[in-house]
Amino acid sequence: LYVTCDLGAGFTVEATREQAHYLANVLRMREGAELLLFNGRDGEWRAAITALSKKSAQLSVAEMARAQTPYPDLLYCFAPLKQGRLDYLVQKAVEMGAGVLQPVLTQHTQVPKLGLPRLQANVIEAAEQCGILSIPSVREPVKLERLLAEWEAGRRLVFCDEDAPGNNPLPAVSRLAGERLALLVGPEGGFSEAERQLLRSLPFVTPVPLGPRILRADTAAVAAMAILQAAAGD
Ligand code: SAM
Repeated sequence: LYVTCDLGAGFTVEATREQAHYLANVLRMREGAELLLFNGRDGEWRAAITALSKKSAQLSVAEMARAQTPYPDLLYCFAPLKQGRLDYLVQKAVEMGAGVLQPVLTQHTQVPKLGLPRLQANVIEAAEQCGILSIPSVREPVKLERLLAEWEAGRRLVFCDEDAPGNNPLPAVSRLAGERLALLVGPEGGFSEAERQLLRSLPFVTPVPLGPRILRADTAAVAAMAILQAAAGD
């Protein structure tokens, strides 16, 4: 269970109303039951429920179960999709090891306003589900040109480019072993020609094909992250 307070042996944690409802009514837990807590910075701790009602829950923290793991280092840059698909995209990105999620506004991006609190809630839910101890951060949306103009030194950008030569991503990806990586996936309408030219002109960008078929943006993201994870082995 994700909590925001500090965690340590003997600490008492007050769960939120929603969490109390989840523990009592969904998981049907009772006082004395044990669960695991994490806050994204102090590692994972075993705790026992000391009081539980439909509206509140107190937990007593016992001992550390797992030490804090470092943030995954993958920067995931994505053109936002419509809400339902976006929830899915964010959840898969967390499961597949994205450490920072950077929404990117491109010429053909169709999403008017991004609900960052909803994205952050999806990130936390995905982190709880897949058992990571860090909470990936979701940044404010930025225009593609600005993102590229202010690019972080030392990080390579893997650009999912359906027009990249060949179909096999492995030759390009295998040359990136040991590098700090970012991934860029375009919107459903694809990148504009000017955006593709700009991306291909930059020294820190590696265009990567993902096979001969046109993938939906969320499919491309999961496929690309799986390939990067396999190449990096983590
Ligand atoms: N240009 C596509 C078309 O002609 O329909 C539309 C974009 S595609 C739905 C969404 C994004 O997924 C693309 O911008 C690209 O980043 C990625 N993508 C899709 N298929 C790909 C492929 N075969 N290789 C590399 N990237 C791909």
